[in-house]
Amino acid sequence: MSALSNIYGEVRELPLAATLPAVAVGAPFQQYICDACGYIYDEAVGDADSGLAAGTRFDDIPDDWYCPLCGVTKSDFTLYEAPNIEALRARSGSAAPVALRGGTPGVLIVGGGRAGWQMAEALRALDAALPITLVSACAADVYDKPLLSVAMARQMDPGTLVKETGADAAKRLTVRLLAHTDAVRICPDTRSLRTTRGTLRYDQLVLAHGAQAALPPALPATRVWRINHLGAYQRLRAALGDSPKDVVIVGAGLIGSELANDLALGGHRIALLDVMAQPLARWPGEAVGAPLLDAWKDLPIRFVGGVQVAGVDKIGDKYRVATACGQKFAADQVIAAAGLATPPRLAQSAGLAWDNGIAVDAATLQTSDPRIHALGDCITIAGQASRYIEPIGRQARAIAAHLCGREPAPYEAKPAVVRVKTTTHPMTLH
Ligand code: FE
Repeated sequence: MSALSNIYGEVRELPLAATLPAVAVGAPFQQYICDACGYIYDEAVGDADSGLAAGTRFDDIPDDWYCPLCGVTKSDFTLYEAPNIEALRARSGSAAPVALRGGTPGVLIVGGGRAGWQMAEALRALDAALPITLVSACAADVYDKPLLSVAMARQMDPGTLVKETGADAAKRLTVRLLAHTDAVRICPDTRSLRTTRGTLRYDQLVLAHGAQAALPPALPATRVWRINHLGAYQRLRAALGDSPKDVVIVGAGLIGSELANDLALGGHRIALLDVMAQPLARWPGEAVGAPLLDAWKDLPIRFVGGVQVAGVDKIGDKYRVATACGQKFAADQVIAAAGLATPPRLAQSAGLAWDNGIAVDAATLQTSDPRIHALGDCITIAGQASRYIEPIGRQARAIAAHLCGREPAPYEAKPAVVRVKTTTHPMTLH
């Protein structure tokens, strides 16, 4: 065995094979993609968090290594070559220009996050000529959202998190992108979507606009951060600046615990509040709260369990968070991390069935309108949301097969494997 130290100084034993490359020295480095979440393992870069040095060949990675983003294991990775639209077009035998086939509007996707882009990729993989339009409220830049939880530990500048700009992704996939455009309402009768940049027609509509941090009345939107996308995260990091700050995080679930861990590693003083007695209490069978608190004992994290937040006051340029039992916490910044909720407005405008989120068919992910599908954080199946990264790729492929008239590839909801990126004590929950 040989030992490799990762950036946190933890030492991980690697099998001897890891030191004896099976691949010819000098062979070009290759990339492997996680079929579950789209994370790409690049042999040239390695995976420092798992102790895999730059240059570690995929074949030399231990079998129990897991995807650093979503937690599936090595067997769920396949060799990755970036899709080439010309090759795809030649294979599909379609010469029609993408935007002009029969003058049809094609598929319209609402949402420029992972779900929206995975949807565009899955459609394009099946049909080189299908007109695809993607509407996004932001720039639709492509990034790995789970990295927002570990950016400080990895000393990543928030500006370097973008993997590919929205404009470049649109070009690569020959997608018409309307960035910085809000979807306002759906008119199912005319198969059109009203946006802040005019009305768009569709043959098929796919909703991939995600969810937002839920805001109980005690947490007014003007006084708390909701960190559910890159833009908000970048603004929070700018507001925190370079000197240690007092941060109150309300909610010690996955996002709250990961952010507490990461901001504390960045030197900020954290008060982490939750109604439950321990962090990550949604996984009671896993007994993860106590070991996590133990791993945090040398970090500036104060966990306060069993409290209900009653209000947030603004005092000068600071905040004061009060609990129902009378405790008070001073803060430079307050973050709401008490769960996610799907904004209902767009679905309501189309009269779509709603069940704690956009209700979709479990196999086809079709909404109550046969011309509208939905995937990702905005949907529920039998009333249950599953807001993890792993199912999104499979959902996109199921919808793409349905829309492109291919052999059905029904989506199968399965228990999520969740990688908790609390870097001082990473865990995989089932
Ligand atoms: Fe993954």
